[in-house]
Amino acid sequence: MYASESLAEEALVAAWVTFEYSSGSGPIGVYRCEDCGNYHLTSKGTISKKLQEHLAGGNIKKMKEANDWIEKIKRRNKHW
Ligand SMILES: [Zn+2]
Repeated sequence: MYASESLAEEALVAAWVTFEYSSGSGPIGVYRCEDCGNYHLTSKGTISKKLQEHLAGGNIKKMKEANDWIEKIKRRNKHW
């Protein structure tokens, strides 16, 4: 859970970079919880504008590739 909408949206985009979601799966938006007052991710409703922009602009694909390289370098470093 996240204290603000912008933090939740950042986490939403980060989740798409970290995990392999196909269309129709994974969280697509954020909502303010009536119970705890914090923001949560949701797979229901309309797609977050911020996530849509990142997906459409190819940012998530680029960040995924960057992440893959960081992981590769980390793994290699262990063997050096
Ligand atoms: Zn809650």
